[in-house]
Amino acid sequence: MTESTGNTPSSVPPGIPYPPPGSIAQPEYAPGEREALIAKIKRLLGEKDAVLVAHYYTDDDLQMIADETGGTVSDSLEMARFGNQHPASTLVVAGVRFMGETAKILNPEKRVLMPTLEAECSLDLGCPPGKFIPFCDAHPDHTVVVYANTCAEVKARADWVVTSSIAVDVVNHLKQQGKKILWAPDRYLGSYVQRVTGADMLLWQASCIVHERFKAEALQNLAAHHPDAAILVHPESPQAVIALADVVGSTTQLIKAAKELPNKVFIVATDNGIFYKMKQAAPGKTFLEAPSAGEGATCESCAHCPWMAMNHLRNLAEVLETGSNEIHIPEAVRIKALTATQRMVDFVKQQQDID
Ligand code: SF4
Repeated sequence: MTESTGNTPSSVPPGIPYPPPGSIAQPEYAPGEREALIAKIKRLLGEKDAVLVAHYYTDDDLQMIADETGGTVSDSLEMARFGNQHPASTLVVAGVRFMGETAKILNPEKRVLMPTLEAECSLDLGCPPGKFIPFCDAHPDHTVVVYANTCAEVKARADWVVTSSIAVDVVNHLKQQGKKILWAPDRYLGSYVQRVTGADMLLWQASCIVHERFKAEALQNLAAHHPDAAILVHPESPQAVIALADVVGSTTQLIKAAKELPNKVFIVATDNGIFYKMKQAAPGKTFLEAPSAGEGATCESCAHCPWMAMNHLRNLAEVLETGSNEIHIPEAVRIKALTATQRMVDFVKQQQDID
């Protein structure tokens, strides 16, 4: 389990400012400013032939704009696929940096912009290419499977890229071929996939600062107060939390469960940004946050990714206006990363064709 030094989880490498500047408090808008920014962003998206691709964990306003302008609000797999299929010449990716990089890997001909290039991810930070590549080289008999939450250089060294929605299926597919797997970077998701598939897996040891902080004992206590609630858990959470789940799944799978299960109350162990879409999908139902470390203490204990919180209306409007914060990836790296990323996209397409 990760220990904290001060307010910084140990999954955040030394030298990375934490919490990231500009992440905890969303900007305070002057009267009328929020509405003016929303109108401006909608206008600029049209003028610049741009489409907004937002992650479920971003601010409600950004999700609303994506919905209302023909963009998408989705998980990282769908974000990548949507950008690939949409005709707009500019993709504006609201999320964290690896999401913008994935969009660029798949769409070299498009301009990919992000409201901020400073939005990190502790999984990406915890898997630096300088350490990861030699580790892979030391295990040449393993198929390298990396989670989408990695930088382009790490994807370039991988055989497969996966997201949480297809990790189990891909690993099962590789297991059937008798492959041994080197998995990175999330140790909790990796160990969950290992338990479900029984595959031979070597696990890298990074973790997500949001999900690793969910607490099993406090979750049990909360569930005892809501005996009819269903517990929805993202598999980046610790094993003891996953063990309490009624449904374990990716963000999209958890939203689907909230809609389809008959329960009226849900306890949700993932970033609370997902509540915007859950409430839309299942109006009238009640969603409670699963308890996280330091309950009732500072905002660092909230189940919300501080890097996702760096995306907001002001920097979205600015990036559309100026064209700044463009994602660039060296072509040699992009081409290598594309092989593993495209394999994921093709695998999903094949599965859908079979269904
Ligand atoms: S919620 Fe966790 S996995 Fe997602 S971007 Fe933030 S640190 Fe990374």
